[in-house]
Amino acid sequence: MPEDIRNRLGLRPVINVSGTMTSLGASIVGPDAIAAMTGILPQFVEMGDLHRLASRAIAAATGAEAGFVTASCAAGITLAIAATMTGSDLAAIEQLPDTTGLKTEVVMLTGHMVDYGAPIDQSVRLAGAELVLVGQSTSSHAYQLAGAIGENTAAALYVVSHHVAHYGMIPLATFIEVAHAKGVPVIVDGASEYDLRGFLAAGADIAIYSAHKFLGGPTAGLVAGSKALVRATYLQNRGIGRGMKTGKESILGAVAALEAWGRRDHAAVRRRERAALDHWLGVLDGRPGVTATIDPDPTGNPLDRLKLRIDPAEARISAWDLVDALAAGDPPLIVRDHEVEHGFFHLDPCNLHEGEEFLVGDRLAAELDAAQRRNEPLISCFATRVQRQEDGILAWPD
Ligand SMILES: *Cc1c(COP(=O)(O)O)cnc(C)c1O
Repeated sequence: MPEDIRNRLGLRPVINVSGTMTSLGASIVGPDAIAAMTGILPQFVEMGDLHRLASRAIAAATGAEAGFVTASCAAGITLAIAATMTGSDLAAIEQLPDTTGLKTEVVMLTGHMVDYGAPIDQSVRLAGAELVLVGQSTSSHAYQLAGAIGENTAAALYVVSHHVAHYGMIPLATFIEVAHAKGVPVIVDGASEYDLRGFLAAGADIAIYSAHKFLGGPTAGLVAGSKALVRATYLQNRGIGRGMKTGKESILGAVAALEAWGRRDHAAVRRRERAALDHWLGVLDGRPGVTATIDPDPTGNPLDRLKLRIDPAEARISAWDLVDALAAGDPPLIVRDHEVEHGFFHLDPCNLHEGEEFLVGDRLAAELDAAQRRNEPLISCFATRVQRQEDGILAWPD
């Protein structure tokens, strides 16, 4: 094992059992991507040709006509929306975010109004566009979408994610049918979705993915779709995309990660992830106040997580206090706690290094044992915890 660089830098050696989180450095970048980035960094290349190479690789992996690598999925959304507004008109591209003379409206379902560390509507507004929301938080109908599309509609944006409302959303096929009947292109934000082909195969004009999530690439966004729209997205690098550009290392690293994904033994990865879940189930079996169940990914990614429901009276600790104890301990364990106010959290095995599942099991057992020794259950005020986290953000860099 090479030296862990975090020790030298004084950074905590966190174990990521939360999945793919920007706040933890996204994912483990695989050896193919690292080798590609190392190889290209000292060399000069003609960037237009490197982008052509990336376009071919993205097309091969997704079934698209063309592809483009930008800084992130969030950047991809902004630039693809801009592409629907400007096309390949270089004067219009330089004019943004001034939208005089351009279509400016983007329709999206209200239940798709997600936050992925920043609000999705801001990725749309950055292009100079404005969002037109369709339906309510957990309900939407095709007639509402049709009614929201007008002369000024540039694009229709559809989000596939565990973050969206899980029922009452217009199915993608219907969404595409309604938008296309009105001549409006459909952009799918599939940042975290393992399915690289399905959205385009269903008729979407653009599908956008993160390179640094399941693909295990460097931080980048992959835009795949029709040649005309991807070209117009690429050309935004001469405009608002300049500040979202990728270097040669990110472009080639993303391509290498994409190609490695195609060669990966996915069944073996699933077996390893399943073995981690089984190990934790064994560790947690019979512990008071802990109910552990296997929870399939809500959007159908081939990924299961372990859901731990905590009864604070029996476990003698609340779910969020257990999460905080795991994060504060040695080694620090960061679990998936988006819904912890409901008394549960998840363990996600997809970003563990070999053997870390055993450390996770040991730490869980140690914290649950310590909780049993308490005279009074530890159940802190949840609102205070939220406030403490927000205060912490604002105190940076202290
Ligand atoms: C992570 C995520 C994003 C943002 O992706 P980045 O590549 O980190 O910008 C956008 N949409 C969804 C649904 C996501 O999960």
